[in-house]
Amino acid sequence: MLQTQSKLALCSLPAALFAAGAALGQAQQDFSAVQIKTHPVAGNVYYLEGQGGNVGLLVGDDGVLMIDDQFAPLSEKLLAAIRKLSDKPIRMLINTHVHGDHTGGNENFGKLGIDIVAHDNVRARLARGVNGAAPSPAVALPVVTFGDRMMLHLNGETVTIGKLPPAHTDGDSFIHFAKADVIHAGDVFRTTGYPGVDGANGGTVKGTIETLQALVDMAGPNTKIIPGHGVVSTRADVAAFRTNTIEAQRRISELIKQGMTVEQVVAANPTADLAPKFVTTGPQPDAMATQRFLTAFYNALKSEL
Ligand SMILES: [Zn+2]
Repeated sequence: MLQTQSKLALCSLPAALFAAGAALGQAQQDFSAVQIKTHPVAGNVYYLEGQGGNVGLLVGDDGVLMIDDQFAPLSEKLLAAIRKLSDKPIRMLINTHVHGDHTGGNENFGKLGIDIVAHDNVRARLARGVNGAAPSPAVALPVVTFGDRMMLHLNGETVTIGKLPPAHTDGDSFIHFAKADVIHAGDVFRTTGYPGVDGANGGTVKGTIETLQALVDMAGPNTKIIPGHGVVSTRADVAAFRTNTIEAQRRISELIKQGMTVEQVVAANPTADLAPKFVTTGPQPDAMATQRFLTAFYNALKSEL
């Protein structure tokens, strides 16, 4: 199976396979310069940094468990990086949520015969098309879905994949590795951006705060938390992110109650001082990112108040 996976991916995947990115609005993006960096986390858990969401990996004698797959044009590079860690078959690929920078490689990995696992809502949204994009082909869809949680037992690990409240989307999952003491949090927690609430895909501010609390409750003082984007963090980092999210919720809610329009809230930028608290790695958010964040929170909170 290893040979098949390597050969298919590295030698003979037709270029057409990589067209999946077009449906995700990535057709114009040039991925040729992207390099995949491998970061050890703890025990047999690693993550790959390239472009898009952090790819979690559990390696061992039983095979490779993979979490998220970035963009379609990066599949070969991701596979090459995985092959440097393990020559065992990739057993399963978990999608933390539906977004294209985490699921863009599904079609390529699905064609290699790797079983994709995700929450029920991820499959349903991919099947009908995300954000107006074309429906994903069958081979890119999760073949195993769950409603609440599921457990995997491989490489001596006990892996829990669990549904979180509707936060970033309505299909967010965490992946918890008991022995390595690691959690992959998906995009509910990031060190490179504001909290992201995608209302069009079922995300909510209230659920984001509940989810961050759930992650804090799940983690211990030494737990390593892989964010959807950014660097490995601690329970204290997630707790601080939650505190700042609550503060953003409070301030924006107050302005909504005062009758301000979304344009007025964006112009007022009431969370400017929180930006460097949310974004602790990488460049600070630009005006466009701030506008997107405030607009998303405004619209979500308007329906949540
Ligand atoms: Zn996302």
